[in-house]
Amino acid sequence: MGKHLIEKINTVKLSIAVLAASLMAIPNAVLASTPTIELSETEQQWLQAHPSIRLAIDIDWSPFEYVDGDSNYVGMAAEYINLVGEKLGIRFDIEKEKPWSEVVDAVKKRELDMFSCVVATEQRREYADFTKPYLSFPMVIVTSDQVAYVNGIKDLKNETVAVVRGYATQDLLEKDHPNLDLFLADNVADALEKLSHGKVYAYIGNIATVSDVIRREGLTNIKISGETPYSYELSMAVRNDWPEFTPILQKALDSITEQERDQIYRNWIKLRYEHGFDYDLLWKVLAAVFLVIGIILFWNRRLSREVVRRIEAEKRVQDAHQRLEQANNELVSYVDIVDKYVITSSTDVRGVITSTSDAFCEISGYSQEELIGGNHRIVRHEDMPASIYEELWSTISSGKTWEGEIKNKKKNGGYYWVQAYISPNFDEQGNISGYTAIREDITNKKLAEALSVTDELTSLFNRRQFNYLFPQELARAERDRKTFALMIIDVDYFKPYNDNYGHQQGDNVLQQVSLALKERLRRASDFVFRIGGEEFAAIVTVDNGDDAVAIAENLRQAIEALGLVHQHNPVSSVVTVSIGLKIHQYPDEQPADMDLIYRMADDALYLAKENGRNQVIEHGRTDASGKSAAANS
Ligand code: GH3
Ligand code: MG
Ligand code: MG
Repeated sequence: MGKHLIEKINTVKLSIAVLAASLMAIPNAVLASTPTIELSETEQQWLQAHPSIRLAIDIDWSPFEYVDGDSNYVGMAAEYINLVGEKLGIRFDIEKEKPWSEVVDAVKKRELDMFSCVVATEQRREYADFTKPYLSFPMVIVTSDQVAYVNGIKDLKNETVAVVRGYATQDLLEKDHPNLDLFLADNVADALEKLSHGKVYAYIGNIATVSDVIRREGLTNIKISGETPYSYELSMAVRNDWPEFTPILQKALDSITEQERDQIYRNWIKLRYEHGFDYDLLWKVLAAVFLVIGIILFWNRRLSREVVRRIEAEKRVQDAHQRLEQANNELVSYVDIVDKYVITSSTDVRGVITSTSDAFCEISGYSQEELIGGNHRIVRHEDMPASIYEELWSTISSGKTWEGEIKNKKKNGGYYWVQAYISPNFDEQGNISGYTAIREDITNKKLAEALSVTDELTSLFNRRQFNYLFPQELARAERDRKTFALMIIDVDYFKPYNDNYGHQQGDNVLQQVSLALKERLRRASDFVFRIGGEEFAAIVTVDNGDDAVAIAENLRQAIEALGLVHQHNPVSSVVTVSIGLKIHQYPDEQPADMDLIYRMADDALYLAKENGRNQVIEHGRTDASGKSAAANS
């Protein structure tokens, strides 16, 4: 239901209201028509004493009364006044200049004697007596045609409402509705013009005047929008120090016939009037009509609010849908990215793989089919000590996240390093339902680390790595109940070599010696380090001490066999090395002490040097078999 329908309803309503107004114009009580006036003696005397009555009128209150362009007093009230004047044989002196507010004052001051057409208000009763009403019109609310419907005066709360200054509406509204912001207009046309220009929100006035002015002024953007409980009950009123005159006037008004009244309305209200109409029924019908209209308007407002609400709700749903779709798209691409780049996998509580990312397959070289249903042991690398996995499982099965570096084995035998974060998943009861691992490929980082443990000149592990691996290998050998041996290998008379052959040539010798050592220490449990300028260390894990001595002797011979000419080596003509050896047997009387073992090996080396170089000396061995030297072999 749009604005047009509301307009139509209001137009219908206006017509109904105007029709009602015309019908209301003659209250039954006033219709006791007596054609002849019977005046008492006193009354006749009074009239004779007052042949001229000074009449207060509204000079601009069409259609009730006004002064026209030819200075004639015209309108409905004017016709009643004329009839009354004729019937009583009196003359009215009409005040045709003063505006309404001034004539009201004039009556108060007894400068004028009576009102032709006024509403009986409390204030006016203080200085005037009233006849019974002879005209009656409902008072209506007029607004801009942009306003849909005004449901009574209470709807105008805090709005600027125009009334004509001094009109009964002013008194009534000030008394009954003090919260209204009243604008006092000079006259109806002024008020409606202000309304038409949006200077005020509403005008309250009687329907007859309003429709008359709207029509005359051609005001198309305003309309009657609502009712008030008031109606204009218009009477004649006489200054109250003339109590004799009011009953006389009443007699005159009562004598006006139905035909005369009818004629007056026909003259001024251009609406049909039918005799003998059942006013009660009409009002009931009108009440029903207004009720229906009210319900329709109420419904319309509810409906349009509902429509707006539903449109908004629909939009919200659409927005949410869009956001959800976008979120899902983002999620899908996020999952894609994770799948592609993050090495993830999930397992059940027993560690059986339930899902893997593409990245996992990519790095391990296994397909999803090969991984799912299997165990993570498939990628386990033998370099990783079992202790790491024990710690991992005890952490995650206790509900915590395990984090650490793991070396994994590829399907093709290669390896990759990951930084792994492994967390338990929980079901609704809070029990562990499985585990999820997220891993970062740190192979390159590990390579960089490897570079940091490598000696640049010889590509052997450096001193740093020696410090790191020495205790680890010692512990491992103890755990595996093996014999651990540390050798310190030092080039003999290397300073003279450098001095005579140059530093460059010296470097070359160091590289050749390194290579020879490396070639002879190839087992997973063999390690060789460059721990100083021309000083090397070797760690070997063997089954018994003699094997370690044999390896050391083998190394010494291998260096000598390189045949690197060294004219300034007093003990040989080629480059030779001396080796100090310390064997740590399991079980040993001594607890494994890294520093002690090192010192013992170093002491043995010192002895080898002392003894004439190019030989192996094992620490603690006093018999000759422990010493192997070139001279003896
Ligand atoms: P000894 O038989 O007692 O071991 O005598 P040495 O001359 O080998 O021992 P010393 O400690 O007196 O001299 C070690 C020499 O090693 C000193 C230095 O010229 C040489 N050197 C150390 N690092 C390097 C290196 O990186 N390159 C070269 N070319 N020479 C080095
Ligand atoms: Mg040295
Ligand atoms: Mg040396």
